[in-house]
Amino acid sequence: MSTNPAAPKTRDALRFIDVVRGKCAAAGILFRLEAREKTREGDLGWFDSDKKRLLGCVNRADWLTVLAHEVGHLEQFVEGDPVLQPDAPDFVGDFEAWCQGKKKLKALRLRQTVRTIQRNELDAERRAVGMIRSFHLTEKIDTYIREANLYVWKYEVSRRVGHWPNYGDAVSHVVEEMPSRLMAVSQIGKPPAMLEANAQP
Ligand SMILES: [Zn+2]
Repeated sequence: MSTNPAAPKTRDALRFIDVVRGKCAAAGILFRLEAREKTREGDLGWFDSDKKRLLGCVNRADWLTVLAHEVGHLEQFVEGDPVLQPDAPDFVGDFEAWCQGKKKLKALRLRQTVRTIQRNELDAERRAVGMIRSFHLTEKIDTYIREANLYVWKYEVSRRVGHWPNYGDAVSHVVEEMPSRLMAVSQIGKPPAMLEANAQP
């Protein structure tokens, strides 16, 4: 038996990376791990379905779980998810432009955009949680799931308050209040009231 608690984790991580490399090779996706904290665009990791690239930023403690989420998007792409096809509307681009006040969206269109993104992100999170569990990519799966729920609900909170919500110093308290089971699709439009009440610009 190993006396080094880090050893099995490293082995699991390498096994996971091997699987990711295989998925990318099979799908014609360029897979790169870079010694940085965030992508040039400021994301924690990135699956780019247009440029066919999967990028992991390894200079952060949570890079394996971030990568698992991005692999979730890669799997969606491989399975032909319409949101990730080249001719799909740019839901995320539209939402971000709306969030920054650069684009107006009619109420119905905004709701459809938000719901589409939420369903896509929740599905990626469900896949990520499966990978995180089977490869033991974190000791804190409960926290990962609580943060995933917060992330998916933030889109609906944005729609309601008109900006991307921040929780400042209260964020760890907010995370603790989130359910430790991943929400059902039927819950994406029903964030707990405290998320709206505590949303800061
Ligand atoms: Zn995502």
